[in-house]
Amino acid sequence: MGVFKNTLIQCQQCRRKILVKPADSERGHILCTHTGCGAVNSLSASFYYDEAIVTGLPDCGQLTYLNNASVWFALRFGINIIGVGSDSTIQLPRFLHNNQCYISRQHCTLNVLFDKWTGQLRYQLQDGVVLPNAGTYQPSKNGTAVNQTKLRFTELIDVPDGGLITLGGIDTFRLSHYRFPTALLDTYRVHLQFDPDQTE
Ligand SMILES: [Zn+2]
Repeated sequence: MGVFKNTLIQCQQCRRKILVKPADSERGHILCTHTGCGAVNSLSASFYYDEAIVTGLPDCGQLTYLNNASVWFALRFGINIIGVGSDSTIQLPRFLHNNQCYISRQHCTLNVLFDKWTGQLRYQLQDGVVLPNAGTYQPSKNGTAVNQTKLRFTELIDVPDGGLITLGGIDTFRLSHYRFPTALLDTYRVHLQFDPDQTE
């Protein structure tokens, strides 16, 4: 993103006007020369996406059971607690292996967030659950892995589109991200700087 002619922007720190020339734009930043400021203004990020885009979204991607594609679960925006307990947001069936279920009542937590810079959703996974009342962390009994790497205690990781989440070392789900269509995203763009200031 760049400017091809001289443009006035508002300093991100002191809010006074700065003249940006095309050469500054190529450098990716400009120093504010107003007295007592001197802030480095980034010119590389010129817009972000408004989080309002997520309101009314019917679901935010899904988890599909690898052993049976007809078993899948829709994710919601925000915290998804996944487990076999009725107190989980996504209640899984008790998958049995030699008459044993390896998934805990509240096994792992998948947080669906909006990344305003990319305009897409992020899927952050943590083994276990943070108990809301006590604020304490309770891990699952048999652990959680992403693409066969087991998560460490309280570790939080971003699961990529198509990533495999294994619960209790045996039951695996494929994560499918939801992606906002480009045409829709464009209507939620909020410009940060290169718009010439029209307020004064
Ligand atoms: Zn300034």
